[in-house]
Amino acid sequence: MAVPNIKLNSGYEMPQVGFGLWKVENNTADTVYNAIKAGYRLFDGACDYGNEKQCGDGVARAIKEGIVKREELFIVSKLWQTFHDKERVEPITRRQLADWQVDYFDLFLIHFPVALEYVDPEVRYPPGWHYDGDKEIRWSKATNQETWGAMEDLVEKGLARSIGISNFQAQTIYDLLKYAKIPPATLQVELHPYLQQAELVRLAKAEGIALTAYSSFGPTGFIELDMDRAKSASPLMQHEVFTTLAEKLNKKPAQVLLRWATQQGLAVIPKTSRPDVMTENLDCTAFDIPEEDMKRIAKMDLNLKFNQPTNYFPTEKLWIFA
Ligand code: NAD
Repeated sequence: MAVPNIKLNSGYEMPQVGFGLWKVENNTADTVYNAIKAGYRLFDGACDYGNEKQCGDGVARAIKEGIVKREELFIVSKLWQTFHDKERVEPITRRQLADWQVDYFDLFLIHFPVALEYVDPEVRYPPGWHYDGDKEIRWSKATNQETWGAMEDLVEKGLARSIGISNFQAQTIYDLLKYAKIPPATLQVELHPYLQQAELVRLAKAEGIALTAYSSFGPTGFIELDMDRAKSASPLMQHEVFTTLAEKLNKKPAQVLLRWATQQGLAVIPKTSRPDVMTENLDCTAFDIPEEDMKRIAKMDLNLKFNQPTNYFPTEKLWIFA
């Protein structure tokens, strides 16, 4: 399955369909290896997913067996909030690169636009949101400007080819564009028919920032985490709009959900551990959803966000999407 590339403002090309690595916990190295065999070239990892070493093992095995070359892969990782202070950025990036067994990231993102107090990786890794690993939230004084400057240094040092942002909204993006010497190549946000983010999509397009949609299946990825908000939402793959369309187009509802995003020019990064489903999810760029059906899906927006800290644990400190 040939996956189209998206041209980034950094000059590099990014596959439009990639593989998500969050919550890939069992047999992670095999899952990454199988995904490469299935045809995936982009892998979306992060310090916070706690599996970068195992992901690196899967990549190393595929390279060793000659299935793929390093330069054919597009490896994405993310900077966790406890490493936003400028002097913390390069050391943690080097550690993450070592875990992946590579010497550069194709794309490195600021995971969330908030800075938390440093936690020594020797004490706890990944550090998570809480300073004490349990309840306490402690801010760091690092601004996004300080952190972005350190991200730009990664590009200068050849540790990241492109840099980008995740979970930023309009106000932080406009601000960042004022001081960025290197503009963000991509913006990665939650985006599915229940959270369509139409204005953010337009903003990114107008500013030449490629947009990656995460959690394309809406509640499904969060039901795994037993999240109440996800369990009470109607599953998209079983929604009449998508089951009917899937039948009409001779595809699976999951493929239609991914195509809804790719047809808008967005990149997607679905996650699954099943090799048959991996292949199925890759096939989401070479068919079209008729315009009248795109309009029908547009009416499904509920502005329903699943991935926010306040949905995971009680806190009055992290209303970061308010
Ligand atoms: P997702 O939307 O990809 O859904 C995953 C769930 O859908 C799993 O339960 C999987 O078994 C199921 N599934 C996948 N393909 C299917 C198919 N064809 N048919 C039926 N079921 C199918 O979930 P996600 O993990 O939330 O998001 C994908 C990726 O996005 C993550 O792995 C991660 O890389 C990225 N992400 C980034 C952020 C961020 O803050 N930047 C946050 C969340 C996710």
